Amino acid sequence: MSAVAMLNHFPLYQRLSREEALSLSELSDIAPLLAAASRRRDVVHADAISYSRKVFIPLTQLCRDVCHYCTFAHPPRKGERAFLSPEEVLRIAEAGRKAGCKEALFTLGDKPELRYRAAREELAALGYETTISYLVAMAELVFRETGLFPHANPGLLEDADLAALRGVSLSQGIMLESVSERLCAKGGAHYGSPDKQPAARLDTIRRAGEHAIPFTSGILIGIGETREERIDSLLALRDLNDRYGHIQEIIVQNFRPKPGTRMAGWQAPPLEDHLWTIAVARLIFEPEMNIQAPPNLSPGDLEALVQAGINDWGGVSPVTPDHVNPEAPWPHLVRLAEATERAGKRLTERLAIYPSHARHALKWVDPKLRTALYDHIDADGWPREDSWCPGRSDVPPPRDVALIGRRAHASGPIERILNKALDAEPLAEAEIVRLFRARDAEFSAVCAAADDLRRRVNGDIVSYVVTRNINYTNICYFKCQFCAFSKGKLSENLRGRPYDLEMAEVAQRVKDAWQRGASEVCMQGGIHPSYTGDKYLQICRTVKEAVPEMHIHAFSPLEVWQGAKTLGVSVRDFLARLKDAGLGTLPGTAAEILDDEVRELLCADKIRTDEWLEVMRTAHQLGFRSTATIMFGHIDRYEHWARHLVRIRDLQAETGGFTEFVPLPFVHMEAPIYLKGRSRPGPTFRETILMHAVARLVLNPHITNIQASWVKLGPDGVAHCLDAGVNDLGGTLMDESISRAAGASHGQEMVPQRMEALILAAGRLPRQRTTLYGNPPAALRERSFAAAIEHASATPLRRQL
Ligand code: SF4
Repeated sequence: MSAVAMLNHFPLYQRLSREEALSLSELSDIAPLLAAASRRRDVVHADAISYSRKVFIPLTQLCRDVCHYCTFAHPPRKGERAFLSPEEVLRIAEAGRKAGCKEALFTLGDKPELRYRAAREELAALGYETTISYLVAMAELVFRETGLFPHANPGLLEDADLAALRGVSLSQGIMLESVSERLCAKGGAHYGSPDKQPAARLDTIRRAGEHAIPFTSGILIGIGETREERIDSLLALRDLNDRYGHIQEIIVQNFRPKPGTRMAGWQAPPLEDHLWTIAVARLIFEPEMNIQAPPNLSPGDLEALVQAGINDWGGVSPVTPDHVNPEAPWPHLVRLAEATERAGKRLTERLAIYPSHARHALKWVDPKLRTALYDHIDADGWPREDSWCPGRSDVPPPRDVALIGRRAHASGPIERILNKALDAEPLAEAEIVRLFRARDAEFSAVCAAADDLRRRVNGDIVSYVVTRNINYTNICYFKCQFCAFSKGKLSENLRGRPYDLEMAEVAQRVKDAWQRGASEVCMQGGIHPSYTGDKYLQICRTVKEAVPEMHIHAFSPLEVWQGAKTLGVSVRDFLARLKDAGLGTLPGTAAEILDDEVRELLCADKIRTDEWLEVMRTAHQLGFRSTATIMFGHIDRYEHWARHLVRIRDLQAETGGFTEFVPLPFVHMEAPIYLKGRSRPGPTFRETILMHAVARLVLNPHITNIQASWVKLGPDGVAHCLDAGVNDLGGTLMDESISRAAGASHGQEMVPQRMEALILAAGRLPRQRTTLYGNPPAALRERSFAAAIEHASATPLRRQL
C-alpha cells in the first residue's frame, strides 16, 4: 500500500509502526498526512485547543550544561544573583495570580552547583544544599501563598528529587529533545552537556512514570537530527508511556537560531518540516495524547500548526516573557483565541495537569495538592468555569444564563446526536459523554433541544407536589462518604444530635401535613442499627392509622434491601408486605451513581448497582411506581453519568415503573468526602444544567418527567433548568433536612404560593399534582395555600410569601 493510501485509511486506534513512520519520511505532498493527523485529533479532542495560563519563574539561569542553541543559561555574572530570592519568586507568582494565572512554571538550569562555586555559595546562604531542594521549597511557598499550581522543569532527577517535587507540584517535565547520541559528540548541539545524554533523560522520564507523576516531554527539531531520529525519539517516549501512562503531552518544538549562541548561523527548520513532525507525532501516539507546539515560536503560522494535528498551545503567560526564547514573545491571549478560531477551533484553558490525568487525581496527584485541584476542576478535569456550587446561595453565572434557550449553532457531531435523541433512538455511552462535554454554542444547542422536547412532551405545565419530608432517624451505621446527614457512634461524622423519632411523633407530623394540604409524606432515614424490616412496616401502618388517605412515598432501595435482609425474606416478599402495610411509591434515592467504580469509593458498604436496579425491577413488577435519581458532581466522571442514564433508561424500557428522573447535584460544604479532600465541590453550573437537559434527551421517550431540586439549586438555578428540559419542581418538603445537613442554604420549605410564583415568572403554567401526577382533591389544594398564609403570620414563612 502506498503511504498516501495508508494515511487515507489509517484506523483510529492503530498507531504508526516504526516502518510505517519511516515510510512517511520522503512524502512529496504532506497534505494527506496533515489531514490524517487532523482527523485523528478531532475524534478525541473535538474543537478544543487548550493552553495553560501560567507565570514563568526562572529560579536560576545558571546551568552545568552548555547546549549550543541556548540563551537561557549563562555563567555567573558579576553583580548578579545566581538564584531568585524567595521574595522575588513570590512577587512574580503574585503578579501571575492577579493576572488570572493558575500555573507557576519553574524553569531552571540543570544542577548549576555542580559546575559553579557561585551557585554553591548562594544556595548555602539561602540555607539549601542543592538547587532541587531550593526548588522544592519555592514551589511549596508559591502553592501555599498564591494557590498557583507549580509545574517543575529542572532537568535530570533522581528518585528522591522526583518524590519531593511530586509533593509540591502538579506536574513535572523534561524535554527528551532527541535520542540521537550523535548530537552529544563533538560538533553536536549537545556536546559538553552531560544532562542531554538521551539515556539519562529517558531514565528520568521512566522514574517519573514509576512515581506516577503527570509528565511533559517532547522533542526539539532542527538541531541536527534526522527524521529517522525524530521518529525514534517519539517511539522511545511512546514505549515509556505504554508502561506508565504518565506522559500527558508531547511537545514538538522547533529550533530557532539565537544571536550570541554557537548555532546562531543555523537555519530554523522550515514550517513544512515542523508540520510533518507534528502530524507524524499525532499518528505515532494514540488519539488521546496531547500534542503541543509553542505558539510564540511560529508566529503567523498558528492555523497551519492546528491543521497539522496539535491540540494544545502549552503555557502562555500574560505577565512574564518566555525566558527560554526571550526573542519570541507569547501572543496576547485574545489574538491566540482569534487565530484558534480561524483554524475552526476553540481556545480553552487547562491546568498544569491535563484533564486526562486530572480525571484520575487519586492516582496522579499528591494528597497535599489534591484538595486544591478538586476545587479547580469539573468532572472532565477542565478548570471550573464558575464558582457556583449547589446548595449555596450563589447567583448563577450570567454567561450561561444568556446562552440558555437561545437556538444556537451546534457542530455536526452534536447535531447528529441531538437529532437521534429527538427521534427517540437510544444514545450510546460515548454519545452521551459527548453531550456532557458541550460548551458555549454546543451547550446552548443541547439545552434548546431538551427544551423543545419538553414542550413537545409536557407542554408548558410545570408540576409540583405538596409533600412533607419525614426523616425518622439520622442514626446510621453506613459510612457513605458524601453524607453529612447520618449521625451515631458508628458513623464517621459525629456533628449534630442523633435522633430517632417516636412513632407518635411520626403520626403527629403526618396529621399536621394533612392539615397543611399535603397529599404525600416522603419518608427516608438513616439505617439505624436496631431497625429491622418490621420497623418500616410499622412506619407505614403508623402513617395510615394517622391519615388513611395520605400517600406514602418511602424507603430507598437500600432500606428495602436492608429490611428484607433483617427479616430473612426476599426483596419481593418484603415489598409485598410493605404494599399491604400501605406503601404507595418508592423514592429512587441511594442510587448516587449507578456504577460500581464510583460506589466503591463513595459508598463502599452500600448496595451495588445491580442490587439497586434489582430492587427497582422487583418493585415495578409488583406494581409500585418509583422515582429515579442521580447524585452527581463528586468523584464521578462523564462516563459514569452516561452509564447511569443508560441503566435507568434500559430498566424503564423494561418495566415502565419510573415516574420521573431527579438530578441531585452534590452539596459539598459539610460532606465528609469533600472535607477529607477527596472530592470536587459539586458540579459546575454548566454541568448541572446539562444533567437535566441530557437526561431529558437520553430518557426520551421512556421517562417523560424531569425534575429540578430547588433545595440544591435555589430558585434561580431552578428557573434556568426550566429552560433546559425540566417540567417538574418536586415537593414543597416542609421539613427538608438532608441537604441542609450537607450545608445547603435554600431553606426547608417552598410553599405553594412561592412555587407557583416561580413557575409563572418563568413563563410557564403551575400545576399542583399528586405523587403519581394526578390532581389532588380540591379541598387539599385549597388547604395547602391557606396553611401557608396562616403560617406566614406566625413563622419565618412570612418571608416566603
Ligand atoms: S446516605 Fe443514607 S445510608 Fe448512607 S450514611 Fe447517609 S443516611 Fe446512612
